[in-house]
Amino acid sequence: MNPMLPEITKLLQLQERDQRIRTLQKELKDVPKHEALAKSQLAGDTAAVEAGSIKAKETEVKIKSVELDIQTRQNSIKRLHDQQFETRKNDEFQAMGIEIKRYEGEINKIEDKQLDLMEELEFAKSLLKDAQAKLAVTQAHVNAELKALVERAEGLKKRLSNLEAERTELAAPIEQQTMDLYTRLFTKKPDAAVVPLAHGICGGCHMKVVSGTIQQLRSEEVVTQCESCGRILYLVE
Ligand SMILES: [Zn+2]
Repeated sequence: MNPMLPEITKLLQLQERDQRIRTLQKELKDVPKHEALAKSQLAGDTAAVEAGSIKAKETEVKIKSVELDIQTRQNSIKRLHDQQFETRKNDEFQAMGIEIKRYEGEINKIEDKQLDLMEELEFAKSLLKDAQAKLAVTQAHVNAELKALVERAEGLKKRLSNLEAERTELAAPIEQQTMDLYTRLFTKKPDAAVVPLAHGICGGCHMKVVSGTIQQLRSEEVVTQCESCGRILYLVE
């Protein structure tokens, strides 16, 4: 172990916690993204169920309308039969007979259409059932993923609060001025505020420092910064 300012040792312990905190915070921040991604798996299956349901309902409406068409003609036939009973005129009776035949012919055609529609409905219902089954499988899968994500978020929060407590304790004995410098650097730099200086090269920006900086580090009197990037240095020789 190289000789080191006690302040630097404390900062390195603090920084280790801060780096872990930063990683966990990022993971926690990404949880909603993972949740949205999990839920997006439902979109296709949900759309298929909706389309299937609409198709089945439309076919049911068509069948109702066809049933009504048949009913209307059956009523007309019944009315004509009643009128046939009441009339005494032969030509009227025959004219009504022709009307009845015409309605019966129409009913036959509508009934063919009714059969086609019922087949269509059966097919639509089987497609809907398949789509619902597929959605149920996906939903169960997504629910499990969402549950795991909630558990993960809870675990991350717990670990974060432990780390926060540790870093508060570690930060307490560090001088305010050093703390301010460290905080400013750690906030700005994505990696670290305190970095090793090995072979005259800053471990943060990888620039060569001037010999005066190395001299100052060796003297172990003050907190020394890289003149290129400003990071706090400690000597590794
Ligand atoms: Zn540097």
